[in-house]
Amino acid sequence: MTGLNHSVEQFILKEIKDNKNLYIKFLQELIQTDSYKGNEKNVAHKIDDFLKIYKIKSEVFPFEENRANLIAYLNDNQNGKNLLYNGHMDVVSAENSKEWKYHPLSGYIESDGKFIYGRGSTDMKGGLTAMVISMSILKKLELSGNLILNAVADEETGGFLGTKECIKKHLKEIKVDFAVVGEFTSIQPIPKSIMIGEKGRLQLEIKAFGKDSHASVPFLGENAISTIVKIVENLHKLELPKKDPPISYDQLRENIQLSLSKKDFEEHKDIINNYIRSMTEFTKTITVIKGGSAKNKVPDCCELVIDIRLLPEQTDDMIINAFKNLLSELEISTDPSKDNHISYEINYNRASTFTDWENSETLSIFSKIFRKIYEQEPLFLMSPATTDAEFFRHDKKCPTIMFGPGDYNMAHKIDERLEIADFLNSIRVFTIFAYNFLKKQLKVKKSF
Ligand SMILES: [Zn+2]
Repeated sequence: MTGLNHSVEQFILKEIKDNKNLYIKFLQELIQTDSYKGNEKNVAHKIDDFLKIYKIKSEVFPFEENRANLIAYLNDNQNGKNLLYNGHMDVVSAENSKEWKYHPLSGYIESDGKFIYGRGSTDMKGGLTAMVISMSILKKLELSGNLILNAVADEETGGFLGTKECIKKHLKEIKVDFAVVGEFTSIQPIPKSIMIGEKGRLQLEIKAFGKDSHASVPFLGENAISTIVKIVENLHKLELPKKDPPISYDQLRENIQLSLSKKDFEEHKDIINNYIRSMTEFTKTITVIKGGSAKNKVPDCCELVIDIRLLPEQTDDMIINAFKNLLSELEISTDPSKDNHISYEINYNRASTFTDWENSETLSIFSKIFRKIYEQEPLFLMSPATTDAEFFRHDKKCPTIMFGPGDYNMAHKIDERLEIADFLNSIRVFTIFAYNFLKKQLKVKKSF
């Protein structure tokens, strides 16, 4: 069991205490930098500039007009242990900026200094900034392994041009021993957690085509809305073989109950139960229906989107098969030569788990540091939403956890904000953990 090196740990904690204002200012600057989808390069350059101050080798990989991924290496040695920190630079749009208390790009801090506001503060410039800063602190220490920072574009739209592309190209030859995706891992009222897996997401986008006619002579037309209604009415039949979640409903409930006071648990029982269901059940939800263009016309087009969340071991093939069976049972055709038919497309991110998490020595070191910094027992959960962790688990075959500052209830919301104490704590965890994972190992001579 690796013991923590106290003098180094004290040095790290002091660095963070002494430079706290500088770190908060850097976070503020990144929140103020527009990185809505398509503009991630703006943030990549800010990170690149920051790392270069500390003489850290970093490279920006531009694509399209103003987009980019970034990879930085703490040192030149890639033959030892490699730890990878991943965070996304893109943020979701903030359409109703007038409804915000402070402008989404303000990075405003109220006078009590508790929270920093702005789009991306929680999802996930807080986590990304903390990872970048941890690298700058680690540059001052002697390590035998290497920390790789991977700041990416495109996460909010599936991650294919961001993390997936980096793994396929720039990180192809690099062995990664452990990865951390720095997304927010609080789901209040549940205490701060470490995510060891995540659900998959499949969006089934269906378009029904019919034949228009005047609504007074509906027999001449083929009603596309009626086709969609038929699917909606029979959606309960779109089922998959049951799979066990990595952590069971009862186990999660017990762990969460133990981590809260009796009063808090009772008060928030319903919300907590719903979160646990989302972590352990296959779900499907209709998210979009659009159809019809005139009040007196038989509609020739209707669209339906079904958002499906999968457990590990449930895959896109299974859904497509189940959907095809449903279509044949309902006698709905996909033949475009027919007046009345449908077409469909899918967007898919796989479910994934860090399979051996319960026996992982590395995770036990991470938990030890988490416990010390957050003064709380670590809680292990499944993320109900998908993140880029799936690419590290599936494509890089690398043990991956998700941990970072911020709360689930803030992501993608109006008045998104981040607790500054949580941000600083995450810098502490990222830095101390990386030090422990990458420090020079004492060589013990074998005695015979
Ligand atoms: Zn995110």
